[in-house]
Amino acid sequence: MIAQQTVTLSTPNDTENAGSAPTLIDGFGRRIDYVRFSVTDRCDFRCVYCMSEQMKFLPRAQILTLEELTALGQAFVELGVRKIRITGGEPLVRHNVLWLFQQLGRLRERGLAELVLTTNGSQLERLAVDLKAAGVARLNISLDSLDPARFRRITRNGDLKTVLRGIQGAQAAGFQRIKLNTVILKHRNHDEVVDLVQFALDNGLDISFIEEMPLGEIGDHDRAEAYYSSDEIHADLAQVFELIPTTETTGGPARYYRIPATNSRIGFISPHSHNFCGDCNRVRVSAEGRLLLCLGQENSVDLKHTLRAYPGDQERLKQAIISAMALKPRGHDFQLDGQPVILRHMNHTGG
Ligand code: SAM
Ligand code: SF4
Repeated sequence: MIAQQTVTLSTPNDTENAGSAPTLIDGFGRRIDYVRFSVTDRCDFRCVYCMSEQMKFLPRAQILTLEELTALGQAFVELGVRKIRITGGEPLVRHNVLWLFQQLGRLRERGLAELVLTTNGSQLERLAVDLKAAGVARLNISLDSLDPARFRRITRNGDLKTVLRGIQGAQAAGFQRIKLNTVILKHRNHDEVVDLVQFALDNGLDISFIEEMPLGEIGDHDRAEAYYSSDEIHADLAQVFELIPTTETTGGPARYYRIPATNSRIGFISPHSHNFCGDCNRVRVSAEGRLLLCLGQENSVDLKHTLRAYPGDQERLKQAIISAMALKPRGHDFQLDGQPVILRHMNHTGG
């Protein structure tokens, strides 16, 4: 059910908020200061939990242009958004995407605190230096296995060595606090959690384990059977490492632990076992310009229509974003059994 709630945008003109920056608040009182842009639905990998083998990608004309994405970034920042994450699909396979990073990087002078990127790492060796120069503050890099054959099976065509060189390239370019994102599937890679954490520790990386979410038809495996909960991963790790809970946050849904005498954070993103909707601070824009108010619900607004029907009208764009806040639902409704409730794949949504 769509929640129709009162939505507020505090502006410097409000008596109560005089002097403060604008803030997007949804109908449940949550402050929305984080947006993720999926800048393409295409990818050079076909990860089994994300895509089906025969994916149909959107025609190019249906994808937001880099100029439209820049206009959107500006509108969100003027509405008080502090963090923009670029994701996809694989954002770094989009032609000329560096230009977008350069434009969005400039928004740091206008209130953007962090421009960040989620990538599969395949293009990082080539692009890391330029991304750093454009103002990208932090990287999340997906890595599900350290075994080349397994890595290829999970990504269907990814090359582990290339990704590892990409991680090294990013470190050499000066990126700090790189975080690995790891989706754990039972009988695919659940026996690698200790090795993956050790790899993170050895290389000064953070790592977050993500429970698979039922987004889109994938055809590869039964999601209920492949489910391996954060609690199971935690128990496996606790046999080898001392895990100390922390209250640290990177502004996302992960719960973090530290291992004494190391600098790495071990995170768990647990949409099934530890619902994180209560403090959701984010919205997403799909590759085709739909403002998605929740990862796990269909509530959305077509911002591409606004961008194309009224080019250059930033006020109208901002108004469309403000009105959309009323559609943000209280939370997702992921079920492990049965068909996915959400038919769009993660590459459209932007993970
Ligand atoms: N291609 C980039 C990458 O893989 O990092 C960015 C896009 S990808 C959709 C973003 C993140 O979503 C990745 O860490 C991926 O592992 C995760 N992901 C994709 N499908 C998922 C699913 N069904 N459940 C949980 N995480 C998923
Ligand atoms: Fe591509 Fe990322 Fe999806 Fe894997 S998870 S198929 S790398 S978009």
